[in-house]
Amino acid sequence: MTATAKKKRRKPPLGIVTRPGSSLQNKTGAWGILRPLFDWEKCTGCNTCESICPDGCIRHLEKKQYEVDMEYCKGCGMCAAACPFDAITMEEEHR
Ligand code: SF4
Ligand code: SF4
Repeated sequence: MTATAKKKRRKPPLGIVTRPGSSLQNKTGAWGILRPLFDWEKCTGCNTCESICPDGCIRHLEKKQYEVDMEYCKGCGMCAAACPFDAITMEEEHR
C-alpha cells in the first residue's frame, strides 16, 4: 500500500465524533426519526434534560423554557428518559 493510500484510509468519514465535547462540529439532526416534545405544564425547569443531552442541543431560554436545536438533535431520547417529571415525549419526525 502506498503512503497516499494509507493516509486516505486513516481519514475518518464525516459525522464521526473524534474528541469529547466535539459533537457540535457535526450536524447530526438528519440522523433522527424521533424528536423531543416538551410539556410545559409538567416541566419544572430542573435542567436535567439540558445537562444530559449528548449533543448539547437543548438550550435553556428562561425559567421552564427550553429549545432544541434540531440541526443537532439526533432523536436519541435520552432527554425524555432522564426527565424526572415525564415532561418530554418522543414524537415521530415528519420530514
Ligand atoms: S428534565 Fe424535564 S422537568 Fe427538567 S427541565 Fe427538562 S423537561 Fe423540564
Ligand atoms: S433526543 Fe437526544 S439529541 Fe435530541 S435533545 Fe434529546 S437528548 Fe439531545
